[in-house]
Amino acid sequence: ADKNVGFLGLGNMGGFMAANLVKKGYNVRGFDPSKDALNAAAKNGIAPVNSLAAAVEGADVVFSILPSNKAVLDAYLEKDGVVALAKKGSLLIDSSTVSPEVSRKVGEAAEEKGLHFSDAPVSGGTMGAQNATLAFMAGGRKEDFDRALALLQAMGAKHFYCGATGAGQVAKLTNNLLMGITGMATAECMNMGIKMGLEPKVLLDVLNNSSARSWSTEVYCPVPGLVPTAPSSRNYDGGFKNDLMVKDLELASGMALSIRSPVPLGAVATQLYRIVQSRGYGQKDFSFVFQLLKEESDK
Ligand code: NAD
Repeated sequence: ADKNVGFLGLGNMGGFMAANLVKKGYNVRGFDPSKDALNAAAKNGIAPVNSLAAAVEGADVVFSILPSNKAVLDAYLEKDGVVALAKKGSLLIDSSTVSPEVSRKVGEAAEEKGLHFSDAPVSGGTMGAQNATLAFMAGGRKEDFDRALALLQAMGAKHFYCGATGAGQVAKLTNNLLMGITGMATAECMNMGIKMGLEPKVLLDVLNNSSARSWSTEVYCPVPGLVPTAPSSRNYDGGFKNDLMVKDLELASGMALSIRSPVPLGAVATQLYRIVQSRGYGQKDFSFVFQLLKEESDK
C-alpha cells in the first residue's frame, strides 16, 4: 500500500526528499514548474511529469513542499488542483511552511472529498533533507499520521504528532521564529568577537562548548569556512533562503498578533532579514545577514 507517490515541489528541500523516497523503494512521480528542478530530480530516479495533474492522478499519497501560502492554496484548491484530482481515500501530506489557517482550509476541503490531509512541516535544513535526518512536526488526524509514518521515516529521523490540523504549522513557526532570532544573534555576536581580534575558529569552539551553543553555532555557523557543510561555506547558496525566512517570520508574527502574544525580538529580526532582502540578497541563505553586519562594522 501507499507505494505510488505524487510529489509536488522539487526545490532545495523537495529534490532531496523525493530522492530519499526513491531510495526506499517508492515510485515517485514528481512535478515542478522549474525545468532545472525536474531535470535534477530525474537524475535521482524520480519520474518527471509536466503537470500537477499527471503527478496526482492515481497516486496513493500526494506529498508537497512548496514556497508559500499562495502556492499551497493554488496547488490544492484550484479547479485542477490536488483536492479535485486525488483519488478517494488517498493521503495528502503538505510539508511546506505555511499559515495554520491555510492547512485547516486545505484539510477541510480534502475531508469533504473523502481524502486524508496532514500538515507536516519539516526542520533540519537542506542537509537534513539530503541525509534523511529531518524532523517532521505533524497536524491532522492521528490515524493519518500513523499512516504517513513509513513515508516520513524515509525522509526524516524524528517525527512528532502535534495535534489537530494546523498544529504542525504552529510548532514549525514557533521553531523558525526562535531560529531566526538565534541566527541573527549568532551573526551579530560572532562579528563582534572576531572584530575584537579573536580567531574565528577559536571563538566558535568556545561558543560550541559554552552556554551560547545552538544549532546556529554548531551546524549553521554564519561565518564562512568554519563549518564546511554550512551554507556560509558555499557562498550562502543552497540553504534556507533569506526570502523564506522573511516569509516564516511574517507568518509567525501574524499568528502572534492574532492572539496578542508579544514578539519584540521577532519583530527586530524580521526587519533585519527584510533589509537583506531589499539589498538584493533574498536568494542567499538567511545566515548571509552576517555579511551585512560585517560590512557595517568594516565601514
Ligand atoms: P525552493 O524555492 O527551493 O523550492 C520550492 C519549489 O516549489 C520550487 O522549485 C518551485 O518551482 C516549486 N513550485 C512552486 N509552485 C509549485 C507547484 N504548484 N507545483 C509544484 N512545484 C511548485 O524552496 P525550499 O527551500 O525547497 O522550501 C520549500 C518549503 O519548505 C518552504 O515552505 C520552506 O519554508 C520550507 N522549508 C525549507 C527549508 C530549507 O532549509 N530550505 C527547511 C524547512 C522548511
